Formats: sequence, C-alpha cells, structure tokens
Amino acid sequence: MTSTHTQVDIVIIGGGIAGLWLLNRLCNQGYYAVLFEQGDLGGAQTIASQGMIHGGIKYALGGAFTGASEAIADMPDHWRRCLKGEGDVDLSKAKVLSDHFYMWSTQSITSKVTSFFASKVTRGRVDAVDKKQRPPVFQDPAFNGSLYKLVDLVLDVPSVIQALADNYADRIFSIDWQQATLQQHPDGSVKSLLINNEQQSIALCAQQFIFTAGEGNEALCAMLGIAKPAMQRRPLKQVLVKHDYPYALYAHCMGANPSPRLTVSSHLCTDGKTVWYLGGDLATEGIQLNDDELINKARQELLDLFPWLDFSRSEWATLSIDRAEPKQKGLIKPDKAFAAKADQSSNVIIGWPTKLTLAPNMADEVFSLLNQASIKPQPPLAIEALSSLQQPAVATPCWETLFPQRNDSSNEIT
Ligand SMILES: Cc1cc2nc3c(=O)[nH]c(=O)nc-3n(C[C@H](O)[C@H](O)[C@H](O)COP(=O)(O)OP(=O)(O)OC[C@H]3O[C@@H](n4cnc5c(N)ncnc54)[C@H](O)[C@@H]3O)c2cc1C
Repeated sequence: MTSTHTQVDIVIIGGGIAGLWLLNRLCNQGYYAVLFEQGDLGGAQTIASQGMIHGGIKYALGGAFTGASEAIADMPDHWRRCLKGEGDVDLSKAKVLSDHFYMWSTQSITSKVTSFFASKVTRGRVDAVDKKQRPPVFQDPAFNGSLYKLVDLVLDVPSVIQALADNYADRIFSIDWQQATLQQHPDGSVKSLLINNEQQSIALCAQQFIFTAGEGNEALCAMLGIAKPAMQRRPLKQVLVKHDYPYALYAHCMGANPSPRLTVSSHLCTDGKTVWYLGGDLATEGIQLNDDELINKARQELLDLFPWLDFSRSEWATLSIDRAEPKQKGLIKPDKAFAAKADQSSNVIIGWPTKLTLAPNMADEVFSLLNQASIKPQPPLAIEALSSLQQPAVATPCWETLFPQRNDSSNEIT
C-alpha cells in the first residue's frame, strides 16, 4: 500500500447546490478546492427542490421587505448572468424550465393580493396578466381569480447540478466514510482527511475544510465535537401527480396565509408524461398526514383550484424530506444564506444556503470568512494521488423514481 501526503487549499464536504456552487467559485478564483460527496451529487434537498429562483416577492406578501428579502432580491439577476455564461459561475449548459412564474389567487382573496401587487414594493417585478395572455391552464372561463407574472425563473435542477459538476469534474470525488476519517489536532482543528482503501492511504491536508452537507452537516459536526453552529430541520411532505395534460405550470397559489397555499412546478418525465410537483402549505401541513390522507387532500386542492381539469386517472406519490438550516430561535425560517466558523475547530466553516436561490449568497459569505482569515491560493502538493478515487454520479429526480415504470407497448408495470 502506498501512502501519500496531499495538500490542497480547500476541502468541501457535500455536493448539493451549496458545495458545487462554492467549488466553482473557489476554483474560478484560483483556489485548489476539491469536493467529496458520499452519495449522488445534489442527492438530498437540491434534487428534491422545485427549481424556483425567486426574488423574495412571496415573502414580501406577508409584510414589509426585511433585510433578508433584500439579499434575495438580487438573486434572479445573478443566476441569469451565470446562465448566460457572464457571471461568477458558468451555468451556460444548464437548462431553464421557465423564465417567469405565476402567482394566482382564488376569487375570495383577490382584493388583498391585488392591492399588494399594485403597491410600490413589487414595482417592476410583478405584472398583472391580461386575460388574453393567460397560460393555457388558466384560460378556462371557470377561472375567476387574479393572475400575476413574476419576473423570476425556474431551473431544470438536474441540468444545473450536471453543469456545475462538469465545470470541475476532476475536483469531485466520492467518499465512503467506512474508509475515511477526519483527523484532528489537539486544539480541535482538522489535521487531514485520511482516506484508506486497498491500494493506498491518502492524508489530505487543507487550509480550510468547509461542510456543505445539508442535513449531513449535523453528523459531521458531531464527529468533530462541534456544537455551534447548530442545525434545525423543517420537514416537508411534497405531493407528485403524474398526468397526461400538456400543461406546464410554475406558480404559487396565494390563500389566506402569507405563505403560498400551493406551489406547483412541472417536470417532464422520460416516458413523456408530466409531473406536477406540489409544495407550499400543502407540503408543510402535509407532515401531519399519512400518504393516503395527504394525497386525498392534494386531490381536493386541485379540484377546488382547477375544477375544469380531471385528475381522476392520474398517478400520485408523496415525498418526505427535511430542509436543513441553521438553528433559529423558535424554529423560524431563516431568510438568508448562512456560513460561519465552527466553534471547536478553527479551520472548519459550516454552510447552509437555506434556499437553492441563495447558493451564490452563501458562497459570498464563505469568501468573506476566507478573506478575514487571509486564506489565499497556494500551490497544491501531490494531487495526482486523488485521481484514483471514484467520482459520484448526478442524482435522479423523484419524478423519475417514485412512479412504477410502465412498458409502453404492453401497458404493463415492469
Ligand atoms: C421539497 C423542497 C423544495 C424546494 N424548493 C426550492 C425552490 O424552489 N427554490 C429554492 O430556492 N429552494 C428550494 N428548496 C430549498 C433548497 O433545495 C435547499 O436549500 C438547497 O438545495 C440546500 O442545498 P445544500 O447543498 O445545502 O444541501 P443538499 O442538497 O441536501 O446537499 C447536501 C449533499 O451533501 C451530501 N452529504 C451529506 N452528508 C455527507 C457526508 N458526511 N459526506 C459527504 N457528503 C455528504 C448529500 O448526499 C448531499 O448530496 C427546496 C427544498 C425542498 C426540500
């Protein structure tokens, strides 16, 4: 067995949007950064997300803009520059599902929403949609609510993960914690990531270790005795409905609450059918219900909101997933990206973007911590040893995995 001492600038652990975005930013700035993923890239929250890159309007509906909603307001333009290949990260190979999304309300709460959208807060960012311009799903004469178009966008998340991974494929590695450990100095700082397999032992040192493992940050911190920053989980239970309608819909339905009653995104499956992926209050309140109860509630919601559509021959599924975030007083929702130094480990940073949208914002937070610690790019050492490590694949989205595969010719479930 060979034993190699390897040195890079930054080791990132966790390959969701936070880790992949950060890897791209760091490498673009000349740092020798490498990323380790224990499963598939984007494998947890990122691949489960609805892909909406929003500027915070839905939060503003609940009250005035907060400082945090200002942080989010710049995000759609930031992502757009990256999608054009003109930003701080190259996303020119990623796909956009829609360059806007809608917000609608049922007739009963229309006046509240209308007066909000007519206010100064939303100027230039929200347009009322004329009857003739409505997307097909709202063209039915039975639709009598109000409809607005937000100048925010929806991304095809698997293509975003793939694009970010392709940009620096040679810096991304699989990790199996049965064969790897984080070694610490007596003061608690990380000495190295030690990887042992049959062929070799690599002691990987770095100026900085950054944990962007989403929910996995908790176990990584526990491994090193880090108590702060602490994490909170916000459970969700999303509903998926697979149908034959040609309608794609990307929209929030506003009800009586400040948060959306229902959020719908649409995803084309490889079998040609479309899944409407349902979140919003349905998913936050859905955690109290078993699968059948939640599916019944979702059916009823769609019947109430789209009485002109027939979902009776659709297939249904649910997905339980936790959002991982920095701990907040009273479990409230954090509204900006988070990155902070660990209390017990001076060369460890922990990050949670809290939203897909805010991944660029989290990378900025990390850069300010690196600048404060005067961490600059240094020549790497013996990095060839890493090339023998395996590389992770991109995760498969739930609309492809949660429904039984049907054989088209026989119409049988395979
Ligand atoms: C249902 C749902 C819908 C959402 N919709 C939106 C939306 O439309 N717009 C929006 O802005 N935000 C949305 N979000 C929030 C957004 O998805 C998350 O904030 C974001 O994806 C978090 O990214 P992350 O990289 O921190 O975590 P994750 O995507 O969870 O990635 C963490 C990665 O780390 C890996 N990992 C874990 N432990 C280890 C370890 N020990 N070693 C190595 N790797 C490890 C995991 O396998 C995973 O790949 C949604 C979230 C959910 C759950």
